[in-house]
Amino acid sequence: MPEAQLDLEFTDISLEPIADKVLAGKRLTQEDGERLFRSDDLFGIGRLADHVRQQRHGLRTYFVLNRHINPTNHCVLDCKFCEFGAKAGDAHAYEMSMDEILSKLSEELREVHIVGGHHIKWPFEHYVEIVSTIHERYPGVQIKAWTAPEIDFFCKITKKQPAEILAIMREAGVLTMPGGGAEIFSERVRKALFPGKIGAGRWLDIHRTAHGMGFRTNCTMLYGHIETHAERVVHMVRLRELQDETGGFLAFIPLSFQPGNTGLVRRQVSSIEDLKTIAISRLMLDNIEHIKSYWVMMGEETGSVALQFGANDLDGTIGEEKIVHMAQAQSAVGHTREELVRMIKEAQRIPVERDALYNVIHEYN
Ligand code: SF4
Repeated sequence: MPEAQLDLEFTDISLEPIADKVLAGKRLTQEDGERLFRSDDLFGIGRLADHVRQQRHGLRTYFVLNRHINPTNHCVLDCKFCEFGAKAGDAHAYEMSMDEILSKLSEELREVHIVGGHHIKWPFEHYVEIVSTIHERYPGVQIKAWTAPEIDFFCKITKKQPAEILAIMREAGVLTMPGGGAEIFSERVRKALFPGKIGAGRWLDIHRTAHGMGFRTNCTMLYGHIETHAERVVHMVRLRELQDETGGFLAFIPLSFQPGNTGLVRRQVSSIEDLKTIAISRLMLDNIEHIKSYWVMMGEETGSVALQFGANDLDGTIGEEKIVHMAQAQSAVGHTREELVRMIKEAQRIPVERDALYNVIHEYN
């Protein structure tokens, strides 16, 4: 496939100074980020983000053969945006047995992604056992497990520090951490939607600790609920600051909120908003290597188009995602390797199968 030509014409000429900064390799400010969100020049912003993406990765687009395991949805917290969490006795409450978890995995997988509810009755040792049992049975499958709020929950139930919890998890087989639970770094939104969950400071501290121990982790941002554009940019800037400090983030994953029956907003944001958020992420996060188009939440169509708006990773085959599908996500519950290759090729990009740490397994050129 040919390299795309540089074509950076803007219908919104007020974006030209921002483009000049990007092309000169200068860092964008909070004000620049907010300016980009205010602009309706979606294609101008997309072309600029695609240019940055192609400078880093050419047309290569990563995906991974992975499986999501959500071991339980019992949760002590009650985040208002969540339709996954349940209390004992709820019709949709579930706990997976170890056999059930193992039955979902296979040696062909590169990565297993494990996150779930904060189960008040499961001792910390059970969470460790989930990891160690998977690691023993499938030593070739890389384990990406537990978000920062889950690490914080383990600290609370064990009275240990994050570094101690992470050391135990590493010993059990955890290789890398997912980026979930960051939601949006805004105390205003946290108090309104997830007052029981850790805020920005603790989330960043846990990832800082993990990076200091040599873990590479991901980072996310949940958008499309009650946050403002300025709060999205603040979120990106805070992640960028930690990345300057540690260099430990592998990928940034914007997560498009699934309203389901939460009543928070009437419908999911438009594809235009999804694409703009992906593109602005690529432009703001100049020190994070990968921007992920998470097709599970954006949908396959928008997820595929996002590969031309700055994203260079389509995540994975997933297998059987429960968290956003309980909030009525319309995407498939999983895809095959062939389907992901097709989606990437249809976006005129080159599929590259990777592992959890972005080591290349196979390039479909
Ligand atoms: S978002 Fe996570 S922590 Fe919050 S209620 Fe749902 S499962 Fe629990």
